[in-house]
Amino acid sequence: MANLPAKIDAYLERLFPICRSITGNGNRKTLRILQELIPLTVHEVPSGTSAYDWFIPDEWNISDAWIATPDGRRVIDFNASNLHVISYSEPICGKFTWSELQTRLHTHPTLHEAIPYRTSYYKRDWGFCLTRTQYRELEKHGGPFEVVIDTTLKPGSLTYGELLLPGESKQEILLSCYICHPSMANDSLSGVLLTAFLAQELLARTSRHYSYRIAFVPETIGAIAYCAQNETAMKKIDMGLVITTVGGSGKFGYKQSFDSTHAINRLIEDAFNESGVDYLTYPFDIHGSDERQYSSQGFRINTATLCRDRYYEYPQYHTSLDNLDLVTGEQIAETLALYVRLIDKFEARRIYRNRMPNCEVMLSRHDLYPTSGGAQCPELGGRSELDLILWLLFFCDGKLDINAIARRLHIAPDTLITVADKLASKGVLEIA
Ligand code: ZN
Repeated sequence: MANLPAKIDAYLERLFPICRSITGNGNRKTLRILQELIPLTVHEVPSGTSAYDWFIPDEWNISDAWIATPDGRRVIDFNASNLHVISYSEPICGKFTWSELQTRLHTHPTLHEAIPYRTSYYKRDWGFCLTRTQYRELEKHGGPFEVVIDTTLKPGSLTYGELLLPGESKQEILLSCYICHPSMANDSLSGVLLTAFLAQELLARTSRHYSYRIAFVPETIGAIAYCAQNETAMKKIDMGLVITTVGGSGKFGYKQSFDSTHAINRLIEDAFNESGVDYLTYPFDIHGSDERQYSSQGFRINTATLCRDRYYEYPQYHTSLDNLDLVTGEQIAETLALYVRLIDKFEARRIYRNRMPNCEVMLSRHDLYPTSGGAQCPELGGRSELDLILWLLFFCDGKLDINAIARRLHIAPDTLITVADKLASKGVLEIA
């Protein structure tokens, strides 16, 4: 799509200003806009619903907030940046002296012109985030200040979006992104848009081998709720991607899944290498994003993240400087191309199972043994059709994919697939 970067830019402009959190109308509005791109189903999980060791909190919505001097001048204004208010702040309206207000103010330790991002989802609290310059201005003024946080925090629901794309195989691949961050561009929003455009690309395909489960959830609580609400399906999934921080201008990288020998890691590296892209490798660790839920003991989905300026790594992370100066549609489109290449690799992945794993298959019975040739010696390292049949029956255990087998045999995967399909047509192999 020639105008793809411009199209992504247009959605960045529309989605960036929206105040999102783990619940609330900002998330609904975001999903409604994404529905212009893909037919997302929107689900609501009521407050108080339990999800394993967690529960859905009250819903939070914000209309306005400010800190003003007695003459009515707003020094801090929610309308200037939604990062000014700690997410999930309870409603406040009153007069505060500087010393009363001071403990409620948060600045960034190193980036003095940045507004930091803070949340307080599970502890009733309130506060403001501001630049060092704004902090000093308030300090110099000395107060008293008029402080208003116009929020509601009451039973409602948590909202998530879902798109299920069936393929020839019932085996699902999970694509997940988180929709809960307010105005930050690389963390959260870039991943949301890339996922939407990737879903659009998958949707447009006339055929898909795998089925795709695409989730737009608030981070942590949303992913946990999603697992709880879709437990049976989620427990059958082998691999997935958490898509985030994909829009910076820095180096590409990927966070490995918990089993570094799993095919998904190799496929990502192949996608990078074939694109001629230099990349960083982040080994799996227990921090990060929703792979924490998807890789937990009960699910053990091999979940990786292919990113660009990964979370934690870039200085603007979790501040107001993670904005549209940092992220562009062009950069997201470049990462999207890598994801599409990776999806092509997923789609090319074929896994077969030998239906007769006990001892050798009697090939002649299935019309698979050469009728002439007699007692010839096998050519060691040979790659005749008979050799490939024997290797396939040896390797196809329902787990090892054709690409991995092809690599071990030093032949093209397509050659093996042709032979595997022949064996499948005879009922000797089946697609796993
Ligand atoms: Zn974040």
